[in-house]
Amino acid sequence: MNKPRIAVVGAGPGGLTAGMILAHRGAEVEIFEKENQPGGRNRALRLGQFKFDTGPTFLMMKYLLEEMFQETGRRASDYIELIKLDPYYRLQFPDRKFFPTGDRDAMREQIKATFPGNEKGFEKFMLKEGKRFRKLIPCLQKPYSSLAAFMDPIFLKAAPHLSLGKTLYNNLGRYYDAEQLKLAFTFQSKYLGMSPWKCPGLFTMLAYMEYEYGIYHVTGGLNMISEAMAEVVNEEGGTIHYGTEVQEVISEGRDVRGVRLASGEEVDADEVIINADFGYAATSLLPPGSLKKWSAEKLEKKQFSCGTFMLYMGLDKRYDSLQHHNIIFADDYRHNVETMFEQHNMTDDFSFYIQNPSVTDPTLAPAGKSALYVLVPVPNNRSGIDWEREGKPFREKLVDKMTAKTEMTDLREHIEVEKIITPCEWEKDYNVYIAAEFNLAHNTGQMLYFRPHNRFEELNHLYLTGGGTHPGSGLPTIYESGRISANLISGAHGLRYTKPSFDPEKILPDT
Ligand SMILES: Cc1cc2nc3c(=O)[nH]c(=O)nc-3n(C[C@H](O)[C@H](O)[C@H](O)COP(=O)(O)OP(=O)(O)OC[C@H]3O[C@@H](n4cnc5c(N)ncnc54)[C@H](O)[C@@H]3O)c2cc1C
Repeated sequence: MNKPRIAVVGAGPGGLTAGMILAHRGAEVEIFEKENQPGGRNRALRLGQFKFDTGPTFLMMKYLLEEMFQETGRRASDYIELIKLDPYYRLQFPDRKFFPTGDRDAMREQIKATFPGNEKGFEKFMLKEGKRFRKLIPCLQKPYSSLAAFMDPIFLKAAPHLSLGKTLYNNLGRYYDAEQLKLAFTFQSKYLGMSPWKCPGLFTMLAYMEYEYGIYHVTGGLNMISEAMAEVVNEEGGTIHYGTEVQEVISEGRDVRGVRLASGEEVDADEVIINADFGYAATSLLPPGSLKKWSAEKLEKKQFSCGTFMLYMGLDKRYDSLQHHNIIFADDYRHNVETMFEQHNMTDDFSFYIQNPSVTDPTLAPAGKSALYVLVPVPNNRSGIDWEREGKPFREKLVDKMTAKTEMTDLREHIEVEKIITPCEWEKDYNVYIAAEFNLAHNTGQMLYFRPHNRFEELNHLYLTGGGTHPGSGLPTIYESGRISANLISGAHGLRYTKPSFDPEKILPDT
């Protein structure tokens, strides 16, 4: 049988996962990446002697990443070094700091000392959310190509655990009465770019996953995962064409037959996988007029995640008392979140996240110096905020806040290099639709069957991988989307692969 020719648009985490698995299974894989390095939003950013992750800094469910390497007969540990963080992060509220940890006894004691009376809630949380997680996890490993998927026994078993109609924040009320403790278990909705007061209750499992499976850093940054996957694609005989922008997907009627590069060259393929941001691809890469359900007009009515304002700084000193991950809550967190999501606006009292990885990883900055990454959730570009004008003043406000709210009081004197990415650059340079970096929102009307399908429903021979398709945004689910698309293509072309087990006892590792 001839090898199927697969063209992948984008070498982000989703494209690399699908690419390395399919190349291992015998497909002829060509990945076209507009940048000169792999990783997309997960790529390395270098400023002089300093190295940063552009986007993802939290690796959760590391077992899923390990499975992706196992799919190619390899061990992730032969390519990257994973470091489990403890404590996970510092949560800073206006009147106190809290340091969640994966050590359950220590966590219970800390809750008892900081939020007395709530410690039993933690046990209940782990028990009940663990049960929910085991029911839901198989649903995230299957494609939802038709409504019939909702009649599948796996989904029917999971359905009572979806907490339909409940928000993440409401759901936390089952376990805790201390407001700040609820926030400590709901702020994870930032990983989806959503508000805890709107995010579906089933996502309580995000915090559960942290406590059950840990939070990891990778030596050299999480970008090293993408570098490693790119290496595997090459080892398996696939090709990554860097600096090669795809201009459009070529189709005859509803049948996709390849891609046209910005150079004008046409590349024929049996199947095309799009890893570029879904909203961008739907509005800029797919044949004009070919979409109904996901047309530009329909997308305008969909809900999308927030955006982010990023500041990367190379410092000539280290702040060793800061943790690796630090989340500084706004004085009025709810007001900050609701203003952002409901009024598409910013308040002066905003929350921010500081990654200070040099306390864990000496490879990111020269000795005695440090690489600091700061993320502020901001509205996506539906806000109409003119970031070209607002970027610099906002940077000043942010540095003021960092010096006022943390021990980095002398920060301004120690900045050697810095770079800002605003929602304006996310949209223009990173091809992210309306700078919603966490993609289509994960509300119940935009998940599972209601999210763009892995085997794209509007054109033949077209597949999706990445945060814009099922199961959703975040590295573990993006890796899973790559595997789902690879499995669908393998099935269609008779490539041998092991069908996934949907038995939680088999798919979940021991902790
Ligand atoms: C600031 C930030 C922080 C995040 N933090 C976390 C975190 O801590 N943990 C977590 O799990 N997730 C996190 N995420 C979410 C998610 O994991 C990442 O965004 C992830 O990189 C998305 O992967 P992807 O495969 O969907 O696409 P991308 O990473 O966007 O990759 C798409 C690729 O397509 C390329 N491309 C686009 N257009 C074209 C074209 N026309 N031709 C050729 N190539 C093209 C792009 O250059 C890019 O390489 C974060 C995201 C951001 C932005």
